[in-house]
Amino acid sequence: MFKYRQNLHTHTKFCDGSYTVKEIIEKAIELGFTSIGFSGHALTTFCRGYCLDEVSTLEYIKEVKAQKQNYKGKIDVILGTEYDYYSSGDLDEFDYVIGSVHYLETRDGFISIDTRTPKKLEDIINKYFDNQPIKLVEEYFRLLSDLPNKLKRVDVIGHFDLLLKSSEIKKIFDQESSEYRAFARKAIEKLVSKGCFFEVNTGAMARGVRSIPYPEPWALKTIREYGGKVIITSDCHKIDKLDYYFDGAVEYIKQNGFTEVYTFENGKFIANKI
Ligand SMILES: [Zn+2]
Ligand SMILES: [Zn+2]
Repeated sequence: MFKYRQNLHTHTKFCDGSYTVKEIIEKAIELGFTSIGFSGHALTTFCRGYCLDEVSTLEYIKEVKAQKQNYKGKIDVILGTEYDYYSSGDLDEFDYVIGSVHYLETRDGFISIDTRTPKKLEDIINKYFDNQPIKLVEEYFRLLSDLPNKLKRVDVIGHFDLLLKSSEIKKIFDQESSEYRAFARKAIEKLVSKGCFFEVNTGAMARGVRSIPYPEPWALKTIREYGGKVIITSDCHKIDKLDYYFDGAVEYIKQNGFTEVYTFENGKFIANKI
């Protein structure tokens, strides 16, 4: 079976990860990776602390570039960013961009929908969406499908159905319903047409919140139907999770109809047979 040996979705101490750039690179080498990408959270000015700021963005870029030189010939170090719909800052320095929706804008300002606590989502739905979960679904997928317009550049769509993070703890959305699927399908159609890649992301599994990666099987099958392309990531914050469930993810992708998974090599996405 094809061994996936790259991770483009990693967070370091510069944002909300627990390890340094160097420690992650060393772990990647130990795992036999040929390349490793860094995707520091770009600044969201309304919510700081978890993300890079005006100063640490520059330090992060400098450090990843320095380590790229240091490790030349041993492993390819790639400089990326995870850019929220509402992030700000320049994208020119980065080799790739993961576009994600973690926040919604409400009458009370920005609120995070990236939560493992069902109660938080229920409160948001109550307060801002007339107690109708489908209205939050509509807004989430509206923002997600608008990423290619909003951002100067987006290569990969981050955790496609992040709204379902806590769905195994408590079911809030009817993700099997035709209404939910219509919004998700529209987003898939749009994002595929813009040439975006989708990540099969094992991050919530690594944190023990979900038993399957994002996206869920129906969405993944639908991405394939539209001709979408996928990569594998673990949204890594801790080095022992750098290749979390990668073999399982290859199987999962295969089971949902794909014959290829992509890796990013020398500035291009390359197909690998699975
Ligand atoms: Zn994210
Ligand atoms: Zn992330």
